[in-house]
Amino acid sequence: MPERLVFATNNLHKIAEVAAKLGGSIGLNTLEDIGCTDDIIENGSTFSENASIKSHYVFEKYGLNCFGDDSGLEVEALNNEPGVFSARYAGKHGDHSANIDKVLNNLKNAENRRARFVTVISLIWNGTEYFFQGTVSGHIRHERSGNGGFGYDPIFEPDGFNRTFAEMSIGDKNKLSHRAQAVERLAAFLQQNASAKA
Ligand code: IMP
Repeated sequence: MPERLVFATNNLHKIAEVAAKLGGSIGLNTLEDIGCTDDIIENGSTFSENASIKSHYVFEKYGLNCFGDDSGLEVEALNNEPGVFSARYAGKHGDHSANIDKVLNNLKNAENRRARFVTVISLIWNGTEYFFQGTVSGHIRHERSGNGGFGYDPIFEPDGFNRTFAEMSIGDKNKLSHRAQAVERLAAFLQQNASAKA
């Protein structure tokens, strides 16, 4: 019987990505699976704080092993904005096109176009909190390119490639993405610790 672990999300794409990396050693539950319909307010000022808010919420209310994640884009010349506001940088949550326009506009006169994507995962495992981070560095293009991916992918070119994330296959993006790196670190931890559970 595999152990079970709650991923504090209802995003099925994220669940599928993590489940694939865990390879069946641990069963994942979504918030919906455990009957949690609460709107967990992510009002932290860092990715770690937001990830931690989600994992602590589930742990404190349900007493279950769980993890939460938070990701976003940090642009050097914009004092690391949009950061924790990545999903709603232009005002409306999830308006990716308006968010991209705002970044391009804010960078209009900037020579430094360095940026990075960051993911932080907070895991609460048998009462102790662990963090796993992934980052991918690159720069912001002057214009959009590509139709794949989501969010800021059409304007982000990772170092070492001459394609944006939106011009890559999902498989190629998942080999190097911030989220994939953080998830791999989480998976390595769980594979080592799940069978040696207290
Ligand atoms: P989340 O925490 O994974 O939901 O990410 C928050 C926001 O960061 C998303 O709505 C996007 O705007 C941005 N973001 C996170 N990961 C990516 C990515 O892989 N590509 C493009 N945008 C991303």
